[in-house]
Amino acid sequence: MDYYSSQISRLIEQLSGLPGIGAKSAQRLAFHILNMPEENVEKLGNAMIEARRNIHYCKECLTLTDEEICPICRNEQRDHSVIMVVENSRDLAAYEKTGKFDGVYHVLHGAISPMLGIGPGDIRLKELIHRLEGNVSEVIIATNSSLEGETTAMYISKLVKPTGIKVTRIASGVPVGGDLEYIDEVTLLRALEGRVEL
Ligand code: ZN
Repeated sequence: MDYYSSQISRLIEQLSGLPGIGAKSAQRLAFHILNMPEENVEKLGNAMIEARRNIHYCKECLTLTDEEICPICRNEQRDHSVIMVVENSRDLAAYEKTGKFDGVYHVLHGAISPMLGIGPGDIRLKELIHRLEGNVSEVIIATNSSLEGETTAMYISKLVKPTGIKVTRIASGVPVGGDLEYIDEVTLLRALEGRVEL
């Protein structure tokens, strides 16, 4: 039965489609939005629309940005010969928060998962290989320590090794199955500093 007007129901339905938002949270958010000044609702809506419209992948590292080249890749103070490979832009943000990594990144936008039918061609590996033709001294593989992350790490190390470029894997201080973005900065730093050559 529809307790609310169809417009409220539609709002609740849209919100409950977001990750981590259950039916109850969706309802709470919907009523919160209805109580907001109209101007603020407009700002919220526009922020979503504009972000979705203007955000794309950085031409170099493929992280999400609203510029052609992201601020990290544009920064000449950073060491462009050290590339840290991460699964997504959230993991990149986690490492950036530590403030201790001064290389650049490569965002794969996923991990190899035979179970889900995600193969090497479905993530941004081709772009990584292309980058290795430049001046690269080390590739740090910082994929998650899940089965998919480890599979991806192994695949990348096999790809990079023949080029003679140093390949390292972040230390396993990161709990198995742990999502990088939820791990505290100290653990991340320890994993980075304790990286081992593959
Ligand atoms: Zn970039």
